[in-house]
Amino acid sequence: MKLLAFLIVCALVTAGGFYVLDRHVPDRFNPFEPLAIADAPTFLTGMKLTRLRMNGDECRAVLEQSDLDVEFLPDRETGENCGFENVAQLRQSSISYGGDITLTCPALVALAVWEEHDLKPAAEEMLGREIIRIRHYGTYACRNVNNRPGGRRSEHAYANAIDIAGFVLEDSSEISVLDDWGDDSEAGRFLDTVHERACERFAVVLGPDYNNAHANHFHLDMGPFMTCR
Ligand SMILES: [Zn+2]
Repeated sequence: MKLLAFLIVCALVTAGGFYVLDRHVPDRFNPFEPLAIADAPTFLTGMKLTRLRMNGDECRAVLEQSDLDVEFLPDRETGENCGFENVAQLRQSSISYGGDITLTCPALVALAVWEEHDLKPAAEEMLGREIIRIRHYGTYACRNVNNRPGGRRSEHAYANAIDIAGFVLEDSSEISVLDDWGDDSEAGRFLDTVHERACERFAVVLGPDYNNAHANHFHLDMGPFMTCR
C-alpha cells in the first residue's frame, strides 16, 4: 500500500513537472522542446544540438522553421563508404559563404547557431565591424581522415564537417586562421573567441594548435567524437 502511494505521488510530481515546463517555461529553457536557431542559447543548447544527431525529423523541423533558405537533398551513396544521409543545401544565410554549401542537418544547425549567436556578436563587440563573408575550404569530400590510406573515413565523407579558413569584414579587411591565429591582436583574440564558442556548438573542433594539417582552418564537425583542440 505504501509503495502504491509512493508511485502515485511520483506520477503526480512528474505530471506536475511536465505541466509547469509546458505552460510556464520558455521553450529554450524546456529540455523537451526542440531547438530554435533564433533563440538565444542557454545551458540546454548543447544537449539540444546533440539530440538532433539522433533525430532526423526533429532536425529537419528546426531548419524548416528557421529563416535559412535550405533545400533537403535525397539520401544517396556518393562513393565507396561515402554518402549523404539527412543532408541539406544552404542557399542563403545572413552571412555569405560564397555559394551554396552542403551539410548534414545537425552540422548545418550548429553552423547557423554559431553564426548567429557567436560570430556575429563577437564581430560586433570585438571588431566593431560586421562579417560579410565566411571563407571555407568545403564541406564534402569522399576521403579518409588526413587522406591517410587505410584510415577511417573523415566526417567530410558524409558532408558532416566544414573547414573554416577566415572571415571578410564589411570594410573588406580579412581575418585568416593562417595569418592571425595565436597573434596578440584584435584578429587573433577574435579567432580565439570564436574557436572556443564553436566547441560549444560542434562535437569536434580542430584548429591550428591540433596539428599542422589544420594550420589554415578550423575543422568543425558533428560526428561521433568529442574534441576541442
Ligand atoms: Zn575538415
